[in-house]
Amino acid sequence: MQAQELKASFTKRYVIAISLIAFLSTGAFYFLHLGLQTSDSTALIVNMSGKQRMLSQRVASLSQQYYFHIYSDNKHIRPEILQAELLGAIEEMDRASAALSSGKLKEGVHVGLSPEMYEIYYGEIALKKKVDGYLERAKRLSEAPSQTESANLLHEIILISNPLLNDLNGAVLQYQKEGEKNLAEVKQLETLVWIVTLITLLLEVIFIFQPMAHKIRELFQEVIWNQENLEQQISMRTMSLEHANSKLLQMASHDPLTGLKNRLNMERDLEDLIIQYDKHHLPYAVLMLDIDWFKKINDSYGHDAGDFVLCEISKIMLENVRIQDSVYRAGGEEFVIIFNRISREQAVEKAEAIRINIQEYRFLFDEQVLQCTISGGIYHPDIRKSTNVQGVLKLADNALYEAKHSGRNRIVEAMHEKFSQID
Ligand code: GH3
Ligand code: MG
Ligand code: MG
Repeated sequence: MQAQELKASFTKRYVIAISLIAFLSTGAFYFLHLGLQTSDSTALIVNMSGKQRMLSQRVASLSQQYYFHIYSDNKHIRPEILQAELLGAIEEMDRASAALSSGKLKEGVHVGLSPEMYEIYYGEIALKKKVDGYLERAKRLSEAPSQTESANLLHEIILISNPLLNDLNGAVLQYQKEGEKNLAEVKQLETLVWIVTLITLLLEVIFIFQPMAHKIRELFQEVIWNQENLEQQISMRTMSLEHANSKLLQMASHDPLTGLKNRLNMERDLEDLIIQYDKHHLPYAVLMLDIDWFKKINDSYGHDAGDFVLCEISKIMLENVRIQDSVYRAGGEEFVIIFNRISREQAVEKAEAIRINIQEYRFLFDEQVLQCTISGGIYHPDIRKSTNVQGVLKLADNALYEAKHSGRNRIVEAMHEKFSQID
């Protein structure tokens, strides 16, 4: 996945997760607020209706006191004081009744009347009307009409007061019941919001955060795989380079036809041997070989036959040397064998054995039997010491020349100042 796409997908998931959490916390806040508000309104309404109940009793009691005060001889309290108290209680109860029956509890606090409360105030019970009538009588009494009328009014007030108290009590109980019900509902909603919040968080974990973590893990795995792949590719590339290098080295130092080491290798090896001989007197021998009348093979049997003979002779030479010896193709149909740690006699013996093996070998090419011989010039430092590669090769080549000119199919030793032929 592209980095841009991934970023967009992660951002989308985060935005959804955070929006859901914000939405839920707003919901929780709203229901908590509503709960507190309901609890406040319930407390206020229950308080007010309780007060109204208490005021109805106070109005009855003050009406009584006021009446007896006016129409008795006991005048140690001034009637105006009692009248003011009665009017105060009437006004207070009137305010409470107006607030409760309309639902406008105070400035900014409005509650709707439930059908049951409405029924209490304006239905069969007609509490509002009863309260108004009750207060109206008390008010008239406070205006001190005639004694007969006052006595009638007081009589009515006392008569109404008890059933009114019962009705007011009923209102208080209804308010309490409704308040408790509202609170229980809000609490239920709060629990619901809590459960929904938990479920939403769980769903967010399952559908948002876990897939996101999974995606991140996958990405890490991909990065590790890519890295491992890259390392593998590098090591494969290194291996193929090493292989190509060793192939190049092989090509540069070996003859492609016979697989033998080439002249370059031979000169390098020979140089080492000359140094070793100078330092430690480790004996060695250089045998230079050339196939006799090789051109005739090419001419008579074809170039492929010539190549075949070159390969076969290479094998014969390899089979007849020791592990510490080396065979080189010096060029064309010329070969060099370097014998390492060998005496002069042994070297001559080995050279002779190779010559005879080749002479006796029957080359079978394209159902034709071919034969050939080789001539060789051999150099050993015991006979004549040379301190450089070209010197050694020149001496061996001179001996080879002598072998050719003295009749071919023979090995000639590079002797001191002259050449010695081996029969
Ligand atoms: P001599 O006994 O004097 O060595 O005679 P010769 O015919 O062997 O010598 P000459 O130098 O006249 O011929 C060598 C021939 O070897 C000439 C060349 O075509 C052939 N030759 C050189 N390299 C190769 C090769 O890789 N394959 C084949 N088939 N022939 C080769
Ligand atoms: Mg030649
Ligand atoms: Mg030749």
